[in-house]
Amino acid sequence: MTIDSGKEHVPYSKLICIFRSKGGAKVKTAQSQVLKGHCLCGACKFELAGPHNWVGNCYCESCRRATASPMTTWIGNPNGNWRFWGIQPKTYRSSDHAERGFCPDCGSQLYYKSERYPNEVHFYAALLEDPAKISPSSEYHSEERINWPGIAVHES
Ligand SMILES: [Zn+2]
Ligand SMILES: [Zn+2]
Repeated sequence: MTIDSGKEHVPYSKLICIFRSKGGAKVKTAQSQVLKGHCLCGACKFELAGPHNWVGNCYCESCRRATASPMTTWIGNPNGNWRFWGIQPKTYRSSDHAERGFCPDCGSQLYYKSERYPNEVHFYAALLEDPAKISPSSEYHSEERINWPGIAVHES
């Protein structure tokens, strides 16, 4: 597979965003911090420049089904502070106002954007090369959370 990592294939202006922080508080990250991430196969890459708008966990059914995971951790990043590299993501219209992007080769979810939140795009924190650089500080749609018992602790 050939990856043209030097070519920006989705202009900033083409991607508008997803859902926004209810709290509205900016996440305290260094202005200079650039978070890098990529899909499972590495064909789709992205960079997020700080400061990020918010980092939070979502438990909604839509995120759950899109990711096949009970919880999704998002980074809301303002337009103008993110960019994609590599191959063009495919998109799926997940509601009347929202679109989800994913890698056409490996299927990894890449972003969420919504006409309701036109000034930012939401990125999956679990795709970061170094997820420890951020920490979720808000929760969304807790009412849709799956009430599974906690993960068992294995004693050695
Ligand atoms: Zn991929
Ligand atoms: Zn959600």
